[in-house]
Amino acid sequence: MLIAGNWKMNTDVDSGTELAADIAAAVKKSDLGTVALAVCPPYVSLTSVREALGETSVALGAQNVHHEDEGAFTGEVSAKMLLSAGCSHVIVGHSERREYFSESNQDIQQKVAQARANGLVPILCVGETKAERDAGDAKNVVEQQLRGGLAGVDFGAPDDLVIAYEPVWAIGTGDTATPDQANEMHAFIRGLLDDLYSSAFADDVHILYGGSMKPHNAEELLSQPDVDGGLVGGASLDAESFIAIAEHG
Ligand code: 13P
Repeated sequence: MLIAGNWKMNTDVDSGTELAADIAAAVKKSDLGTVALAVCPPYVSLTSVREALGETSVALGAQNVHHEDEGAFTGEVSAKMLLSAGCSHVIVGHSERREYFSESNQDIQQKVAQARANGLVPILCVGETKAERDAGDAKNVVEQQLRGGLAGVDFGAPDDLVIAYEPVWAIGTGDTATPDQANEMHAFIRGLLDDLYSSAFADDVHILYGGSMKPHNAEELLSQPDVDGGLVGGASLDAESFIAIAEHG
């Protein structure tokens, strides 16, 4: 199990550092067993969050990365910069980036490849809109996003890649996918990974569910056989809720 928090464009350096310190304190007090945690704060807080997480095993991730190594790309952040700030993970292809920043599957593939080449674990997000689901197109869309985002990229071990299934209609809406809907899509994604890589690889890749995951619905989602964790937005901004979700893992 992996429970990752995507803080999106929330918190500032002070409040983000405080949240990380609260998470670190809660982690020390709770018994999470084999559940791994990661937090993905905004760029400006990465280093102070890393420091606040201290000796805990909570991993640090960024929310985006540029596909070039370095150079004249004003406003962008490279994979090496993320590594130097203590990141091990990076979210790639979140639906908000696809929608508001026009990221295509091809753009996302370049970012996945760049993350991988630098030893960062990409958390590749896929998921259909409400209109696509209503049109019976959900699996087709997810397949294109997955095959497009991973095209030509090889991974050494299953831990080098994380997939997050985030139905767009469930993000920030309180309208969670049912456990059956989530599991069906996760099993479909696992089948695609089997086809792209191998069954051993597909079996062990973490496939996270994201979209209005909260302490009250985490247990039924996380108990599904193909749901290996969560990518949590809103509820990850509160240490207690975030840890409560992880305790269901
Ligand atoms: P919410 O948990 O706020 O619905 O956000 C999910 C998400 O987009 C995580 O990346």
